[in-house]
Amino acid sequence: TSLDDPSSTGHEQVVFCQDTQTGLRAIIGIYSTALGPALGGTRFYPYPSEEAALADVLDLSRGMAYKNALAGLDLGGGKAVIWGDPDQLKSEPLLRAYGRFVESLNGRYYTACDVGTYVADMDVIARETRFVTGRSVEHGGAGDSSVLTAWGVFQGMRAAAEHVWGAPTLNGRRVGVAGLGKVGKHLTRHLLDDHAEVVATDVDPRAREWVRANHPQVELVDDAAALVAADIDVYAPCALGGALDDDTVPALRAKVVAGAANNQLAHPGIEKLLADRGVLYAPDYVVNAGGVIQVADEIEGFNFDRARLRATRIYDTTRQILRLADDEGVPPAVAADRLAERRMADVGRLRTIH
Ligand code: NAD
Repeated sequence: TSLDDPSSTGHEQVVFCQDTQTGLRAIIGIYSTALGPALGGTRFYPYPSEEAALADVLDLSRGMAYKNALAGLDLGGGKAVIWGDPDQLKSEPLLRAYGRFVESLNGRYYTACDVGTYVADMDVIARETRFVTGRSVEHGGAGDSSVLTAWGVFQGMRAAAEHVWGAPTLNGRRVGVAGLGKVGKHLTRHLLDDHAEVVATDVDPRAREWVRANHPQVELVDDAAALVAADIDVYAPCALGGALDDDTVPALRAKVVAGAANNQLAHPGIEKLLADRGVLYAPDYVVNAGGVIQVADEIEGFNFDRARLRATRIYDTTRQILRLADDEGVPPAVAADRLAERRMADVGRLRTIH
């Protein structure tokens, strides 16, 4: 992403918002509306500079376009950042001022929760705009999106297992789950139901205690490095980004990587390193799309079964990507990008014919 030449980023629209009364400074980035209104969360974060906020919103909105395209949603990609410390700045008037900017885009952008914003904030924003998802259950919202995120990761993992071992199941495989947070806990349950052996780790003693109390058959290891070096078949990064880097990839014993964390590849080129080592990487933004599928369903009036069915299709999409990667001789991350770009171009072209 080059900030020197904004037109080179390929974004449709970037909106700078300011409200001096509440101290609101926000940037809404719309990468693409080729497939429908742009959907993506609002990040409330104390960026060191406006340039840093802009760079983040440009990257994140582009990422959402690709994620939504492969999730099969009729939604484009967007994202917003509010620049400042949420602990000091967040207030009802500020969120409502922000909501009025979202409303002013007249449905070109739908917002949702992200780092620093919560369901309760979406309910406040909704007092000014219809174009908001991720709302509380009492307001027709989808609730905790980690439920379908974990379900989708499990589906993507099944597709990867089928590609490598011939059957779409984790039965009898050893799966390493790094991070037993909201997603990791649900994922562990799906894996155990499928008769996988689970090895896990978390830095938080409460998460470790949860495993001991609820699933004593799960083996706990000290840290993510120990998990990477463990004798596992599948590695599932479910904590923070950057789990796959120049140190972890050479140490990895798993044949498959499929997990919930965003931005698992620490830098471009890691996808090639994984492929060269014979590790099948199921692209993060493909397998973790269950969460956005869950919140996007609110736009139609939330229906859990319908959303779950859509998240189940992550199995088919992952399968398709892995086959395309083989056919075109590229790593799965590259195949995923190509497929997303193809859908945006093909459907986008149809939508421009009036
Ligand atoms: P969470 O905060 O509930 O859980 C993260 C867990 O990882 C915590 O228990 C934390 O203690 C643990 N952790 C942090 N650093 C660790 C480390 N170095 N080693 C081991 N464990 C560590 O978050 P979540 O909602 O479960 O999300 C997990 C990941 O999935 C994040 O990267 C998130 O961006 C991504 N994701 C989540 C959703 C969703 O719907 N929740 C959707 C898409 C992607």
